[in-house]
Amino acid sequence: MLTTTIPLFETVNATAPATTRDFPACDAEFSVGDAFDHLLGGFDQAHVPYMGLLELTHKCNLDCVMCYNVPLAQPELTTAEWLDVLEQMAEAGTLRLTLSGGEILTRRDFFTIAGHARTLDFALDLKTNATLITPESADRIAALQPVQVDISLLGASDSTFDAVAGSKNTFTRVLRGVQLLQARGVAVKLNTLLLNLNVHERSQMVDLARTLGVEYKHVVKLSRSDDGQEKAGNTQLSTDAITRVLEDNRADFAVQAPTAETRTCKVGLSSFLISPYGEIYPCQELRISAGNLRRQSFGSIWRDAPIFQELRSRHTYANFPECRVCPINAYCVGRCSGLAWKRDGNLYGADLTACAQAQAHYQQRNPGQLAPLTPLQAKQRRHYSANGNPA
Ligand code: SF4
Ligand code: SF4
Repeated sequence: MLTTTIPLFETVNATAPATTRDFPACDAEFSVGDAFDHLLGGFDQAHVPYMGLLELTHKCNLDCVMCYNVPLAQPELTTAEWLDVLEQMAEAGTLRLTLSGGEILTRRDFFTIAGHARTLDFALDLKTNATLITPESADRIAALQPVQVDISLLGASDSTFDAVAGSKNTFTRVLRGVQLLQARGVAVKLNTLLLNLNVHERSQMVDLARTLGVEYKHVVKLSRSDDGQEKAGNTQLSTDAITRVLEDNRADFAVQAPTAETRTCKVGLSSFLISPYGEIYPCQELRISAGNLRRQSFGSIWRDAPIFQELRSRHTYANFPECRVCPINAYCVGRCSGLAWKRDGNLYGADLTACAQAQAHYQQRNPGQLAPLTPLQAKQRRHYSANGNPA
């Protein structure tokens, strides 16, 4: 997930300031100006694979409308293969891992893999939907001493939660999971992807997080599926809705024109993603394969894969033709190359969700003025008027 930029996230102060940090891919959020940032900057420059997102499985017990995973008809990495990959990452200098899914607790060997990661001294973040947490599994999660457990809060009522999660009684089950972890001293963070299905319960979700005493963040970004399909496009917030969210929860961002050297995120520098099938990708959105761990070592893929080499040398505004000339690029803090790539195969293109958010930021900072269209929006509009359907 970014070089001192704030992406498509608005952290809500439901509790005291967070003591933990988020990293790619793609919960990227960086503060600046302390020793830790200097350390991370050093990892970026030296291309140390500091942080990995491991998708242990694409199996899940829920069927969320916005899920971007597309399970393949291939065997997932075995326990032995994951343990070997952990050893390779430790050797290569990886320090922090996020274990994700699918749903991590659907893997019967989850605690074997996570326990080995802790034995190797990785700092662990866990992502779970929390519906499968029992007192016994909560004990085992607490024993892992994770930095944080991220849980999706998809609504503040049974009906909304179930509509987004495609399952029954999810709200109650998630709350129980949160409370089981809290009772054991585990740091929990709730995350909401705001959709037109749940945005009406936004303030109740903030209140709920405050009542529970947990950190809370909502996100307006919507991913296409891993195969590029716009599975949940019609549930995405409109520009007007995004503007209203930003108005209520003003983002702390600097209006700053990018230079030719500006990166929109740190993709390829010090983070990576491994799929359940052993494929290494730059991040959760940019699923251009760098190589497969069943055929190559982690170290050689990280060092030599063409996509990593390209991102390290070319992923700057100088090579973003639409964004370079965009009239509101100084307001854009969320451009995602992965979403641009999923849209039309061009990772150097513009990202329409970021365009909408930049317009919202523009209007927030220039009350009463209509934000200009971005080059991509203008192109879409021309295409629309000529053909009567979206570009
Ligand atoms: S390309 Fe998008 S998802 Fe990937 S690290 Fe950058 S902002 Fe995050
Ligand atoms: S074109 Fe869109 S994605 Fe690119 S800089 Fe402008 S607002 Fe951001």
